[in-house]
Amino acid sequence: MAMSSVVQDLRSFVYEALPARVIFGSGTLSQLGDELERAGISRPLFLSTSNQRDFTTAVLGQLHPKASRFAPALFAGAVMHTPTVVTERALVVAREHRADGIVAIGGGSTIGLGKAIALRTDLPQLVVPTTYAGSEMTPILGETANGVKTTQRNPRILPEIVIYDVDLTMTLPVGLSAASGLNAIAHAVEALYARDRNPIISLVAEEAVRALARALPLIAESSLNRDARAEALYGAWLCGTCLGAVGMALHHKLCHALAGKFDLPHAQTHAVLLPHALAYNASAAPDAALAVARALGASDPARALYDLAGRLGVPQSLSAIGMPVGAVDAATDEALRAPYWNPRSMERPAIRNLIAHALEGLAPPAPSPGQLAYSEVAGAP
Ligand code: NAD
Repeated sequence: MAMSSVVQDLRSFVYEALPARVIFGSGTLSQLGDELERAGISRPLFLSTSNQRDFTTAVLGQLHPKASRFAPALFAGAVMHTPTVVTERALVVAREHRADGIVAIGGGSTIGLGKAIALRTDLPQLVVPTTYAGSEMTPILGETANGVKTTQRNPRILPEIVIYDVDLTMTLPVGLSAASGLNAIAHAVEALYARDRNPIISLVAEEAVRALARALPLIAESSLNRDARAEALYGAWLCGTCLGAVGMALHHKLCHALAGKFDLPHAQTHAVLLPHALAYNASAAPDAALAVARALGASDPARALYDLAGRLGVPQSLSAIGMPVGAVDAATDEALRAPYWNPRSMERPAIRNLIAHALEGLAPPAPSPGQLAYSEVAGAP
């Protein structure tokens, strides 16, 4: 008799809990001063993008009533993909200020800069995420030097304190909320079929997909729906936990390869590719596909993710976000270079077919018994 997937998973697994202090709620940013004090940080270096400079300056200003205790400074130059030249500039500010801690307020770009500084200085990090990317929960850092992005995992990179304040996500534009939320869902989906998956993270992942899939359409209807914003941020936290705990596979490889090669926007690339990656892997990871289907309340989870993206109004084709038409072969070469572990082998014709579908924004193929999605038989567009 076939053993249930849970029993199989319980045979043997490794679960590594990552230490972090997490404060979640609405208005929680008001606890920033107390949290800094608790961590023994008195000369924090605040980080933000230039877009979020004014907001971060205001937050920093609110610490001033306690000025006798805090001497904050600001570096508002965080940008996407953590270029090391930007990190070097921020390090100069940190040294001149004699910073004893980092406060990163923003999305993955700002959090990445904080991690890059922590890696080089071991300064403690307090992170206030304002998107759903999930970087705050991971010991992972991707850095760009001379146009090449390299990713590493190191316990020194993991932020020590995270303040999730739902209020700060209210200003995240609907389009970015949707793309960022689908980026987060991708972490949970791949955690369900990761080589080092485990029952704890699988529980977290299924709940994460459920929470975000429920919240994102409500946010698309009304970006000021506070309950939906809270559920989305909770889901994003769980998704980040998944990304930090287990290895990623085909989907993340495709995103890294294609976003890097064609300079595509991070979250939107995830949003386009996720349904296709899940369709590709579903037959090789039926339990994971079933868990995503349960979370989405659908029988075909890849199609449900594609339809969700459509309902949210995010771009559904790689061509719409900047991948050149006619670049499918070059993209396939890039995707197959140094492949990540994946539950289904990376078959060149099928990967090429998948990329061609995603380039045009076609729906992923429906599951068909005995047939592997995107195989030659399925036909290329
Ligand atoms: P982002 O941090 O680049 O933010 C996008 C834009 O939105 C920025 O201009 C930012 O200032 C603005 N913004 C952020 N929050 C806002 C808010 N609440 N209201 C209004 N504007 C807001 O985008 P992202 O998708 O969060 O992060 C992408 C980067 O994070 C990529 O470089 C990616 O590689 C990295 N990342 C890393 C990990 C990891 O674990 N290392 C995980 C996920 C993403």
